[in-house]
Amino acid sequence: MSRKLKGIPAAPGIAIAPIVHFHTDLDFIPTREIGERDVEGEMRRLGEAITTASRSILFLRHEMASTLSDRDTQIYDVQVNLLHDKTFKADLEREVSTNLVNVEVALQRVVGRYEAVFDKAEDPLMRERSADIRDVGRQLLSALMDRDRSVYTADGQDYIFGADEFMPSDAGLLDREHLRGIVTVRGGKYSHGSILARSLGIPALVGVDKVLAKAPSGTPVILDGESGTLIVNPGKDELTHYHGLIRDRAEAHARLIEVRFAPSVTLDGQHVDLGANVESVHDLQHVETEVVSSIGLFRTEFAFMERRQFPTEDEQVRMYEAAMEAAKGRPVTFRTLDVGGDKPLPYFRTPDERNPVLGWRGLRISLAWPDILYTQIRAILRASASGHARILLPMVTTLDEVRRCREIVETIRQDLADSSTPHDGDIEFGIMVEVPATAIALDQLLPHVDFVSVGTNDLVQYLLAVDRDNPRVASLYDPYHPAVLRMLEKIASQAIRAGKPVSICGEIAGDHYYTMLLVGLGFRELSMAPVFLPRVKLMVRSFTIAEAESVATEALALTDSGAIREVLTAKSRAIWSEFLGEASN
Ligand code: PEP
Ligand code: MG
Repeated sequence: MSRKLKGIPAAPGIAIAPIVHFHTDLDFIPTREIGERDVEGEMRRLGEAITTASRSILFLRHEMASTLSDRDTQIYDVQVNLLHDKTFKADLEREVSTNLVNVEVALQRVVGRYEAVFDKAEDPLMRERSADIRDVGRQLLSALMDRDRSVYTADGQDYIFGADEFMPSDAGLLDREHLRGIVTVRGGKYSHGSILARSLGIPALVGVDKVLAKAPSGTPVILDGESGTLIVNPGKDELTHYHGLIRDRAEAHARLIEVRFAPSVTLDGQHVDLGANVESVHDLQHVETEVVSSIGLFRTEFAFMERRQFPTEDEQVRMYEAAMEAAKGRPVTFRTLDVGGDKPLPYFRTPDERNPVLGWRGLRISLAWPDILYTQIRAILRASASGHARILLPMVTTLDEVRRCREIVETIRQDLADSSTPHDGDIEFGIMVEVPATAIALDQLLPHVDFVSVGTNDLVQYLLAVDRDNPRVASLYDPYHPAVLRMLEKIASQAIRAGKPVSICGEIAGDHYYTMLLVGLGFRELSMAPVFLPRVKLMVRSFTIAEAESVATEALALTDSGAIREVLTAKSRAIWSEFLGEASN
């Protein structure tokens, strides 16, 4: 019998292989009582171990440099800094000399204390730093015990790494040729292990409760890094289904390679701009800029969330400049900080709220703390001198909010002009349509903005009163609901009437079943996670505007989402199978 376990999807992709367990070394340590005269010797051992461990971390950093970006290799710098941290060393020395224990025991105690402090931190990023201290402790211990952590050789067999957690130092010890997936008990989406897994392109699932007990080493598993599922001892049908999914993806991927670079035009020559959504400069560096016409959404909050304090204006300028450099002349739409709700900022505590998603989030926070908004807008404007930047406001609900933000932009622009600071004096200023009120009264806001972008992820949750993160009501979160279609139609028609560009940057922009409908409703700009671009481009190139409009009319007349879904999927499937058929001829 197969068994399904749930976890946090940390890196996308599907893997099928046996799980192999890896254990940490910190549990098995020699315990010795020492005399006062031995303290000095223990300290010497500690010093030597620090040198050895630093060397091996730096070696690993060097080894991983060809696979990882500069930012990701910094994980190893954090560890070296920790090893040389004066307080850490002083705490170890105190433990040895006060309690007269060997340094291995002192290490375990001190690391345990640090871990407890980090684990209790409210800031999730600080909590995840406890993994770094554990990893450093483990490496010091190996050095002290002269134990070479040997490289795992998988004997030519594919495997899925299973452990309490995935540590940065593990990456260098694994047979990466046969590593198909990573599953761990601990860890979060932003743990260093998860960041590494994403950078290495290995599907990963973290936070899977008791996975090591429920899936003993050697057990076959299917790891689905998209839905966050681990299937232990999969049955024949599940294996067939997932092998099929992997095959389909590989096949489609290979076929779509040519389509990627083709122009994004409909059969009757209408251009549909396809953009990429990114969460960081690093993401952007991996976007094939030739394939997209813009970076339609740069979610700046992720760069803020990865830090321990607010980035300064200069730091932000450098980040936005780097983004534009990576975009190679394509416009980059920087969305101002959209924190709160499901995206807490670790160093900026917001009060507990009964309904955080309906509460203090997005623009509401930025306007309550104008310094934050002021600094960010000033940084975007300064950076705009070096490329094509656009400003986008999240969670707009009222005209007053738009007016206040516009005033801030104007004031900063004037300021920069007065001090002859280079910037784009005509920077475009846009708003997200995520709140139904904004969609309904859009005609009143449009005269005050240069463009709008529809955030359907939030719009659907607010329109249908369904929390987008609550699995209990997940079946009610339905982007195919007739009201969603009507709302999209209303948004598009208002923007078109006002002559203002309108794009979609919510997840449905990357859903190729939706492409024909969106184009049929009048949208000519879609921005999505880069992985979906080729499929959507294939769709765009397979219909005429008249066909898309007729699909939109047909779908708008339907009363239930099942029927709408059927119409949209049938059209897309036909295009898809025709493409696969032609491509294989
Ligand atoms: C959206 O709500 O559709 C959107 C793009 O913003 P986010 O997913 O970041 O809330
Ligand atoms: Mg949103």
